[in-house]
Amino acid sequence: MTEPATSKPATSKPATSKPARTEPRIYLSPPDVTDVERKLLLEAFDSNWVAPVGPDLDAFEEKCAELTGVRHAVALSSGTAALHLALIAAGVRRGDTVLVPSFTFAATANAVMYLGARPVFLDSTPESWNIDPQILADELRGRAVRGQLPRAVITVDMYGQCADYDPIQDACDRYGVPLIEDAAEALGATYRGRAAGSFGLAGVLSFNGNKIATTGGGGMLVTDDGSVAKQTRHLATQAREAVAHYEHRTVGYNYRLSNLLAAVGRGQLQRLPQMIEARRATFEHYRAALGDLPGVTFQPGAAYGVPNRWLTCLLIDPEKFGTDRDRVIAALAGINVEARPTWKPMHLQPAYQDCVMRGGSVSAGLFERGLCLPSGSALTPHDRNRIVASVRRAAEKKG
Ligand SMILES: *Cc1c(COP(=O)(O)O)cnc(C)c1O
Repeated sequence: MTEPATSKPATSKPATSKPARTEPRIYLSPPDVTDVERKLLLEAFDSNWVAPVGPDLDAFEEKCAELTGVRHAVALSSGTAALHLALIAAGVRRGDTVLVPSFTFAATANAVMYLGARPVFLDSTPESWNIDPQILADELRGRAVRGQLPRAVITVDMYGQCADYDPIQDACDRYGVPLIEDAAEALGATYRGRAAGSFGLAGVLSFNGNKIATTGGGGMLVTDDGSVAKQTRHLATQAREAVAHYEHRTVGYNYRLSNLLAAVGRGQLQRLPQMIEARRATFEHYRAALGDLPGVTFQPGAAYGVPNRWLTCLLIDPEKFGTDRDRVIAALAGINVEARPTWKPMHLQPAYQDCVMRGGSVSAGLFERGLCLPSGSALTPHDRNRIVASVRRAAEKKG
């Protein structure tokens, strides 16, 4: 999902192409932008705040802090940049260990590698597909005994559903290990009434083109800790000291978000409630329309929270369904619909083959059978019907 979530509208096809191909392409999670965002963007442009500072950036940060219920928000160029700076705030250095769920997008683990630290991967629980709190507690206890505590723990709120923060926070607190919440997919989700992004030392949001709200590319670090926010702002602006000449006591980064993009983000946040509602309705629609098929299981909704349903994901058991996940993806591709496998776990990635993994069968199974269906907030009932019909046809054909 690092590729552009959308591209130029398909050019009209010659009359000889198959009829199914004449339907416009449906993307997995394309941006959903309107005149609201357009107007704010042009106003920012006309005001000449074409810089990584400006009133839209300040307002965007304020709104993100408000939405996640934290004191501080720092707008950054990507969610990955926010992860990088959150790990620095947690004190992660070369040679350190950081516990990371295996079932995630590579950015979560990559940020650990940027610092010369090593991820140790933990398996997921089938209950929510997130990091298994029991495996985390066991790993921390074992490491405490051996005197090898990790420098930090990262959790991911997978496909917009929070991890189980009560036991996770307990385990981290017991050993004094800072927690970082990768809420890149989870803006608007809640855990026991508390907003995704607000857990641990710092939370990470993403405004990449495929996320629930987008700036075309962007991220945010959210935190209650004033010193973390201050350090993050400093490091994100090349660690320039507050003096007239260019003074640097430490190595910084160019990680701030542009004010123009923040203007787009402000518009997206105004529309966030409707966009989340649309994604949830899409999930419910797919579940109602496909849930009766043998061998189909949707991502479970854990009782502790309310997911934003960024992507509708389900598992296909090929024995019962009659055909496998890849054939369903191919069938959808055949009617010009983009569907994707769920994340390939990090412990199965060549880039991370030397890393330690605890457990692994759950995340491997999620990858083997997992399917993400188009879930964009502008998806129409007609689009959904096309997709549902194609999946049902694939099941009937039985391969
Ligand atoms: C999208 C995503 C990121 C990275 O965000 P970018 O803004 O694309 O850098 C990190 N973690 C997870 C789980 C994501 O889905």
